[in-house]
Amino acid sequence: MSQAESTPPGPVRPIAYCNWHQGLSDTARLIRVEEAATGPGGLLYACDLCQQKHGLTPLADQT
Ligand SMILES: [Zn+2]
Repeated sequence: MSQAESTPPGPVRPIAYCNWHQGLSDTARLIRVEEAATGPGGLLYACDLCQQKHGLTPLADQT
């Protein structure tokens, strides 16, 4: 008997770019969407630390 390895162990944590400290973080959340006249526009992500440091609220938590 062998188990199928179709499910990854543990929760999957998405790696995203933190626009505040300008680095990758696995705690980064989408903070806001900036509308740019030129270019692809901006999705701004901040990690846990930067959220606390700068008093940011993730978009999903804003009601
Ligand atoms: Zn950060």
